[in-house]
Amino acid sequence: MSTNSSALTVLQSVFGYDHFRGAQTEIIDEVLDGRNALVLMPTGGGKSLCYQIPSIIRPGVGVIISPLIALMQDQVDALQQLGVRAGFINSSLSSEDYSQVMRALRQGELDLLYLAPERLNQPGTLDMLAGLSIALFAIDEAHCVSQWGHDFRADYLQLSVLQQRFPQIPRIALTATADAATRHEIIERLGLHDARQFVTGFDRPNIQYRITQKRNPRQQLLQFLRQEHSGDAGIIYCLSRRKTEETALWLQQQGFSALPYHAGLSAAQRLEHQQRFLRDDSVIVVATIAFGMGIDKPDVRFIVHLDLPKSIESYYQETGRAGRDGEPATAWMVYGLQDVIKLRQMMDGSQGNEQFKRLERVRLDAMLGLCEITSCRRQALREYFGEQAPDTCGNCDACLNPAPTWDGTEAAQKALSCVYRTGQRFGVAYLIEVLGGVESERVLHNGHHRVTTFGIGSDIDKAQWQSVYRQLVARGYLGVDHASYGGLYLSERARPVLRGEETVLLRIDVQEVSTRSGRGKR
Ligand code: ADP
Ligand code: ZN
Repeated sequence: MSTNSSALTVLQSVFGYDHFRGAQTEIIDEVLDGRNALVLMPTGGGKSLCYQIPSIIRPGVGVIISPLIALMQDQVDALQQLGVRAGFINSSLSSEDYSQVMRALRQGELDLLYLAPERLNQPGTLDMLAGLSIALFAIDEAHCVSQWGHDFRADYLQLSVLQQRFPQIPRIALTATADAATRHEIIERLGLHDARQFVTGFDRPNIQYRITQKRNPRQQLLQFLRQEHSGDAGIIYCLSRRKTEETALWLQQQGFSALPYHAGLSAAQRLEHQQRFLRDDSVIVVATIAFGMGIDKPDVRFIVHLDLPKSIESYYQETGRAGRDGEPATAWMVYGLQDVIKLRQMMDGSQGNEQFKRLERVRLDAMLGLCEITSCRRQALREYFGEQAPDTCGNCDACLNPAPTWDGTEAAQKALSCVYRTGQRFGVAYLIEVLGGVESERVLHNGHHRVTTFGIGSDIDKAQWQSVYRQLVARGYLGVDHASYGGLYLSERARPVLRGEETVLLRIDVQEVSTRSGRGKR
């Protein structure tokens, strides 16, 4: 029997599924052949079978390293229900149960052993393992080795011992979240240089991705909801607790059943709002990022971001809560320059060392890049996670409604030199006043009605100048100074533009119909 057909037999006879999903076959074959593998698949993609089936088929016990101690019992129970011989060792185990697991292990009676990482690092465990026949090592939640990630576990660093002590035994590392930097760290720390990488399942074809400029966010939101999702359930993400409250209240006044959700509410209130969301068909939850973890509602029809998420990982995870039932769903976001400034200030003021902050800024820049690109959003998303993707998807705003570009070289030069002439310490609103030739009190007071850039931008309207500045910030021509509350300064990249050596193609902002009529009223 070929390995593949025996894997299929196990899938059907033990797990009761008809066929493998996506790359499961290839991954299982790789491990069955004794090779290492790195698996990147989103949550729910079906990672578990990738090590469970080879553990069952290969001689010896499959050792699964997992940080999720609370889930081990459940996983083992579920496997035992299926007739798979599985056990676990972690700190929650009584001494009798421990002895029983150890006895079963020594007698070769287990196919799978779940092991907490700190256990592996206790003296004696490695020696104990060395005395056993081992089918494979699976390192679940492998991104925990990354020191710059949010789930870092010091115990995971010690896992490099596996390649040293057990070089002949295949290692399969699995994770749902890994940008290029984290992937690199996993490979380094777990010695997976020779491992084939399997990156699959990141595409969510039924989700339509749309990202648009923030002009009058409430009117834009209202139009989006009324025209496309009236009566649908959805989640609206905001950055602050206050904003979730205000937005929910405002939506209620517009006739929607909207509820706030954030960590500042009482536990009882949170539970009630969550249950109404799960039970009713058309509840909108306005939430900070605290909402959504572990919530499984298949018919969420839209996800809205009223503020920019801090990374592509967050954006992908949050938008991924839409359309789990496979029916069409929309991920809709409005963003503006203020978001970037606010997020950068939050990051700079946060705890953490310089390297961590720098990484956060890099992640935010990537998120901004996703907003500013004029090419397919889905392709950019998938490629960010390392997955191959075609140039167009036909189901994102960039594909459906290609963003035209314009030669913004001259405008960029004006915008940049205005920053320079006013001393590299003013924010966007002020710079636009100077460009527009507005003799405001502030401008007159600073004497900036006498600089050469005063009034040279009156050919372009204010909204367009905002767009120009936002794109210049997003692409790194301008930096945002936090000490001066959002003052812009020139970066190295600005020089070739100012010298006329670089052409700048900018996205033409597509005005949304009827957002203008709503302006002025608040
Ligand atoms: P992950 O670990 O990637 O989050 P799981 O391994 O928990 O995902 O799988 C998610 C769900 O999909 C589980 O309920 C699992 O039983 C199911 N599943 C996985 N592979 C298949 C398959 N080939 N056919 C049907 N269901 C599958
Ligand atoms: Zn697309």
